[in-house]
Amino acid sequence: MKLLIPGPVSTHPDVRAAMTQDFAPWDNDTKPMIAAVKDRVLAIAGGVPGEHMALMLQGCGHYAIEASIRTFLPPGGRILIADTGPYAGRMIRLASEAGRLVTVLPVPADRPVSPTAIAAALAEDPGISHVGIIHSETGSGVIHDPAAIGAVVRALGRRTIVDSVSAFGALPLNLAERPEIDAVVFSSNKCIEGVAGIAFAISPAARLEACAGNAGSWSFDLSDIHQHGLKNLPGTFRFTPPMQVIAAFSVALDRFDAEGGQPARLARYTANMRVFYDGMIRLGVAPVLAPEHQGPIVVNIHAPTHPAWNLLEFVDALKRRGFLISNFYNTENPSFRVGCIGDIAPAEMTEAVEAMALALADIGVDTRKAA
Ligand SMILES: *Cc1c(COP(=O)(O)O)cnc(C)c1O
Repeated sequence: MKLLIPGPVSTHPDVRAAMTQDFAPWDNDTKPMIAAVKDRVLAIAGGVPGEHMALMLQGCGHYAIEASIRTFLPPGGRILIADTGPYAGRMIRLASEAGRLVTVLPVPADRPVSPTAIAAALAEDPGISHVGIIHSETGSGVIHDPAAIGAVVRALGRRTIVDSVSAFGALPLNLAERPEIDAVVFSSNKCIEGVAGIAFAISPAARLEACAGNAGSWSFDLSDIHQHGLKNLPGTFRFTPPMQVIAAFSVALDRFDAEGGQPARLARYTANMRVFYDGMIRLGVAPVLAPEHQGPIVVNIHAPTHPAWNLLEFVDALKRRGFLISNFYNTENPSFRVGCIGDIAPAEMTEAVEAMALALADIGVDTRKAA
């Protein structure tokens, strides 16, 4: 079964094979592997060794987003979040429930956020210290560029928190050129193609030190994780880490390097997206986004208007043909969503398009006639 979902993604058998042993996290053979993982993700982010710190937090991507908000904004601190879709909605909720004050900027869901709109909202309200950015809005598939937004944020003396969970490793990011970034957040199970269980934030060391005491949660305090790394060794954790997940992630990084790093990964995912996007148009079902706004990570397809259309039946029919997609709608108008990321090549995407044509026929939806 191939997962065509925007995480957790299909993984290579070598990645899964790395999990078939026991590890002691504090063992002297284990610590260097953990420390190396931090160095390697720092390099992918364009971080400066010594200036930026890669911090690992047990759990999923949301945990590291919450930890970033808690760490870099004090209780009652203010953040601007453009409502780009469901993942922006999640950041809004995480910040609000942590007692930070959110200003929501309504924006169209089907195109990148306008940096001018961000600048206007910040200029109007000097009390806002941060802007939250969803790098790849997984709900829509639109890419929101942390560099373009960051430039205006920086010009106004504010800072950003970047949810790059579904983008990191595929879309370019250069922390050395983006001093306004307090945290770039990602997880093990998306574009690096590991399994789920560990989340990351990469942050400036000076900011981690300046923000000690903000978090109000020992579990979700990135400054405390940083201090622990300084006092102990970089390859140690405060609490038990998922070692099998980290071992698998380390192999996933080997494969990432062997493929040619971020540019190669972006090229493969873009090719996957193109095969799928164009294939769906040939089948007579319409992608939600215009081609110029379609990112390489997730494609949403309008649910066919045919009376026989039923998402769950379609998902089951497709599963019988070897591909698994999300079984829920998360766009304003019903659309089914397909991830172009993971251990999937364009040839498999071609097979997925053919499987979808057959699955549509299985459930009695003749889209070609309608087209
Ligand atoms: C997957 C994802 C997350 C985190 O999801 P978890 O289930 O917490 O790992 C956050 N933001 C975006 C944009 C995502 O795609």
